[in-house]
Amino acid sequence: MKLFTVGPVEMYEETRVVRGKQLPYFRTPEFSDMMLEADELLKKMISAQQGAKTIYLTASGTGAMEATIMNCFDEKDKILVINGGGFGARFVQICKVHNICCDEIKVGFEENITEEKLRLYAQGGYTGLLVNIHETSIGKIYPIEIISDFCKKNNLYLIVDAISSVFADEYDMQKYNIDATIFSSQKALSLAPGMSVVVLSPRIIEERVNKKIVRSMYFDFKDYIYNFQRGQTPFTPAVGVFIEFYNMIKYIQSIGIENKIEETRVRAMKFREKAQELGFEIPKFEKSNALTPILFEEKGKLVYSILKEKYGYIVTPSGGEFAERILRVGHIGNLNDEDGLQLLNAMRKVVDELK
Ligand SMILES: *Cc1c(COP(=O)(O)O)cnc(C)c1O
Repeated sequence: MKLFTVGPVEMYEETRVVRGKQLPYFRTPEFSDMMLEADELLKKMISAQQGAKTIYLTASGTGAMEATIMNCFDEKDKILVINGGGFGARFVQICKVHNICCDEIKVGFEENITEEKLRLYAQGGYTGLLVNIHETSIGKIYPIEIISDFCKKNNLYLIVDAISSVFADEYDMQKYNIDATIFSSQKALSLAPGMSVVVLSPRIIEERVNKKIVRSMYFDFKDYIYNFQRGQTPFTPAVGVFIEFYNMIKYIQSIGIENKIEETRVRAMKFREKAQELGFEIPKFEKSNALTPILFEEKGKLVYSILKEKYGYIVTPSGGEFAERILRVGHIGNLNDEDGLQLLNAMRKVVDELK
């Protein structure tokens, strides 16, 4: 079996070895040192601002999305959500649950965010903007530069769900004035699920997080920030996933984050070239290096099932209106360029046999 998914993905041998070991007790100076060391490296890799702080949560990505909203906004805010798919819709849902007023910028399938589109919202009295920089449900990446400029000009906090993008695409908190970066262990880092991370800018900590009374004990970021001064979390962290994270971050540091991203970019590019050669259709919008959506006229799910049953290749169908029309192929995790090409050959055979 081989996973061409976005998370969990094919794990690296090194991660599997680390996973197989007895877990240590974690309220120790040794564990604290490990957390602090990994955290420093992480913040460098995503160019976090001087004074940025990280929250290590034991939750899936959605938990971190919700916790971020709860700690940064309330009923007095007015939020803009870029909604071009399933994960954009999730942000809208979270705002609704917490009674936070939000307006959606709907992005059509072929469309992308432009300056003109955003300008329509310039005078709306908004205080924050939420975006899933890579809308994983269809594989589209939004232009961070344009979004960042809009937020700067209109003084909005910029919250970025980068769960499936960070470590696969270039990412820079400082350059783009990002106030919160959210990601999880099971995507490009190729670790087990269970740990999600929020990196906060100094300004949002000072102006929002520190001042907010959060209606949750477990998800109150103030407590996490306080405890992390000594390299600890208020509650038991996903100890094993954290150790996997430590090892992965050290590995990425040893090869260089630019090289890690470049490797994924080249893999995606080779895959897309070959896909086109074989007559598959790929949407023209800007795509993340993490995944390639392939368009089908029909029977997408059947192709998915045959690939799984006959070849042991696991790709991901899309949801909703694209359930039969898109298969998503991940390029993250322990895959090489050849794996993707073999998948394409198999997919070509499956599709031809269905004709
Ligand atoms: C994977 C993903 C999430 C997190 O989903 P969980 O199932 O809660 O881990 C959130 N946003 C995006 C864009 C994702 O790709």
